[in-house]
Amino acid sequence: TRRRQEQRMPARGVQSGPTKPGSAVLVWFRRDLRLADNPALRWAARSGLAVLPVYILDESACEEPEDFATRWWLHGSLDSLASSLAKKGSRLTLRRGRAERVLPALVRETRAAAVAWNRRYEPQLHETDSEISTLCAAQGCSVKEFNAGALVEPWDVNSLSGKPYHVFTAFWRQCRKRCFAAPLGPPRVMPPPSSWPASDALPSWKLRSGAPEFAAGLATAWRPGESAAGARLSGFIDQALAAYAQARNYPGSAGTSRLSPHLRFGEIGPRQVVAALTNADSGAASDAFLRQLMWREFCRHLLFHNPQLRAQNLRTPFDRMPWRKNAEDLHCWGHGTTGYPLVDAGMRELKSTGWMHNRARMVVASFLTKHLLTDWRAGAAWFKRYLVDADTANNCAGWQWTAGTGVDAAPYFRVFNPVLQSRRYDPRGIYLRKWIPELTGLPDAHIHAPWMAPASVAQRAGLVLGKDYPLPVVDHLFARKRALEAYASHVRNPPEASPG
Ligand code: FAD
Repeated sequence: TRRRQEQRMPARGVQSGPTKPGSAVLVWFRRDLRLADNPALRWAARSGLAVLPVYILDESACEEPEDFATRWWLHGSLDSLASSLAKKGSRLTLRRGRAERVLPALVRETRAAAVAWNRRYEPQLHETDSEISTLCAAQGCSVKEFNAGALVEPWDVNSLSGKPYHVFTAFWRQCRKRCFAAPLGPPRVMPPPSSWPASDALPSWKLRSGAPEFAAGLATAWRPGESAAGARLSGFIDQALAAYAQARNYPGSAGTSRLSPHLRFGEIGPRQVVAALTNADSGAASDAFLRQLMWREFCRHLLFHNPQLRAQNLRTPFDRMPWRKNAEDLHCWGHGTTGYPLVDAGMRELKSTGWMHNRARMVVASFLTKHLLTDWRAGAAWFKRYLVDADTANNCAGWQWTAGTGVDAAPYFRVFNPVLQSRRYDPRGIYLRKWIPELTGLPDAHIHAPWMAPASVAQRAGLVLGKDYPLPVVDHLFARKRALEAYASHVRNPPEASPG
C-alpha cells in the first residue's frame, strides 16, 4: 500500500537513490521528531551511506518567535530526539535560518549524496520543499521523500465528482474502510559519518525564554518526546478508550487522549495510533476515536486544496461581516474574565497548560465570534500563540467551522449558549471549579451562571460578584440578537451596491 502511495505522489526533484559511494545522506527532520515509523530515516539507515540527521529552525515558516507554547514544546522534543539518536551512536545537527538557504548549504558542506525527508502538507511549506528539491538536484544531490504523517495524503482521495472533499461525513465514509500501512520499527543502526558537521547548541535558540510564567504550567502538564507520546497512547488505550465515545465531550473528565501536541510534532505518527487501536480491538470505541483522528486528516485535506483557509473566509460573503474590533473584549476573553464560567475555565486552562478541551474550544470560539462579534482570525492568532498543539490546518478549520465561515461549517445561527453547554457537559462543575477556584463555594445549581445566584447563596459562597469574579461582559440574549442581525443584514442579505 505504501509503495502505491509513493508512486501516486506528485513528482518532485530527482527520485533516484544516492549515487556517490562513501558520502552521506542528510535526514531532514521536520514534523516527524521520532525514530519509529519514520520512513525517511529508515530509508537513509538502509542506504549503506553515513546518516546525518539535521533539524533547521526556520522562524519565517513555523515556530515564530511569539508562538510561546510550540517553541517550548519544540525544545523538549528536540532534546529528546537528540538523546534517542545519541543512544544509537548518531547525532542531531541543529542549524538556524531559512531552509531554502541552510539545507542546500549543508548539502554542499557535507557533500551529501542525498537528502531524505517526510512530506509536509501545508501549501506554503510544500512549495518550499519543491524549491529546495530543485536546489539540491542542481547540486547533483537526490531528494527522496516519504509519507510519515498522513493516513490519507491530500491528493489521495476525491469525491465522486473527482473534486476534493468539502464535507467531513463524506470524507469519513470513504476513508474509514481503508486499510492503513503497518508502522515501521526504528532503524537498528545509523552509520555515522567520518566527521560531524558543526551544530548550534539547543539552549542558544532560547526556545523556552518567552512567557516564563506560562512555562511553569507547561512543565507540570507535559513531557514532550517520542517515549512520552508512546506512554500517553498506551495509557489512554488502557484507561480511557472504552468510554471515549461519551466521555470525550466532558471537559471535567480525562476522557480524551491528549495526543494532539505529540501528533503535531510527529513524536508519534497516525499509523502507529491506528495500529495500537487495531490491537486493542475495542470495536465501536476504536471507531469513535478513529473518526476524530480522521478530522485531522480532513483539516489537512481542506488546507491543501484551499490554501486560503489559513487567513481568508472560505465563505466569501463573510468578507462583509462587520466584525467589532474591541481590544477590551479580546483581553477579557483571552485572560478568562468574561464572567461566563465555561468560557473562562477554557481560556484559563489554555493559559495554564497550553491545551484546551475540544468542547471548551468550540464554546470559547463561538463566544468570541458570536457573542463578542470578533473576527475568528483574532482568536486563531491567540490559539496559535498559546496552544502546544497549534497546527495551521486544525486551528483554522476549527475556527472557521465554529465561526460559520468555513465550507463544512456549523451554520452561523448556531450560537452556543455558554450556560446551557456548561450545565450539559459539566453538570457537577468539576471543570469550572478546577480552573475558577473563586467559584468553588457555589452550589452546582448556580455555578454555571453566578450572576443569577440569589445574594444569600453568593454570600454563603464568600463570593462578591464584580469583585471576586466578573459580571458577564455581555448579556447572552442581547449578544445573540446582535450577531444574528449583523449576519442577516450583511452576509445573508448584503446591502445592494450603489449605482455608479
Ligand atoms: P482526542 O479526542 O483524543 O482526538 C485524537 C486526535 O484526533 C487529536 O489529538 C487530534 O489530532 C485529532 N482530532 C480530534 N478532534 C479533532 C478536530 N476537531 N479537528 C482536527 N483534529 C482533531 N487541534 C489541534 O491539534 N491543533 C489546533 O491548533 C486545534 N485548534 C482548534 C481550534 C478550534 C477553534 C477548535 C474547535 C478545535 C481545534 N482543534 C485543534 C481540534 C481539537 O480540539 C483538538 O485536536 C483536540 O481537542 C485535542 O485533544 P486530544 O488529543 O485529547 O483529542
